[in-house]
Amino acid sequence: MRIAEIFHSIQGEGSLVGVPSVFVRTSGCNLRCSWCDTPYTSWHPEGDDWTVPAILAAVEAYPVRHVVVTGGEPMIARQIVELSQALRERGRHITIETAGTVFAPVACDLMSISPKLANSTPAGEWSARHEQLRIQPEVLRRLMHEYDYQLKFVIAQPDDLAEVRQLVQALSADPGKVILMPEGIDPAVLRDRAVWLAEICKQQGFRFSPRLHVDIYGNRRGT
Ligand code: SF4
Repeated sequence: MRIAEIFHSIQGEGSLVGVPSVFVRTSGCNLRCSWCDTPYTSWHPEGDDWTVPAILAAVEAYPVRHVVVTGGEPMIARQIVELSQALRERGRHITIETAGTVFAPVACDLMSISPKLANSTPAGEWSARHEQLRIQPEVLRRLMHEYDYQLKFVIAQPDDLAEVRQLVQALSADPGKVILMPEGIDPAVLRDRAVWLAEICKQQGFRFSPRLHVDIYGNRRGT
């Protein structure tokens, strides 16, 4: 499978924020978010083909139990099921970070689903395809039913909340598993957005997530 990078860092987002983890970042995505923070896995996919044993060896070089398989869109990666099963056999805690548009019968302890809101739709030739694909209610329901999950939304402006509420209601999602995260790759922008987003979380009972890795390291690859 095509891998953009494998690195050791701390989980910067979601319910496991702060947990030291190895990140396996697959390359290739079926969406094209306008604000994608890993364009080297979507708009301009980079990386080499790795075998599953080679990925496992790279993961095992680090003394951590938590593995985050991210992307790109890892659920479209060839051998994602085989990789996840091999990680489970080795006793790893597996988080899969997905936009939730594709189902695969993976082994996974936390399905971290980040449905893409209308604020992600790009202008240009990818617009129609992205818009048509970005929300797949049946796939979302199945992922939420079959795995422990979190629903993580990237919020750029307060108006985005109407779409979040609509989707949370349509999916009958547990508000305690709904996590709102400010959009941005600049720590100053994230701080500004965090102020009003935290207020929204207080009012609506959703959970707030920082982007801790951006706060600590800035917007850098391998973090
Ligand atoms: S789904 Fe993720 S990797 Fe794909 S374009 Fe959107 S932000 Fe980038």
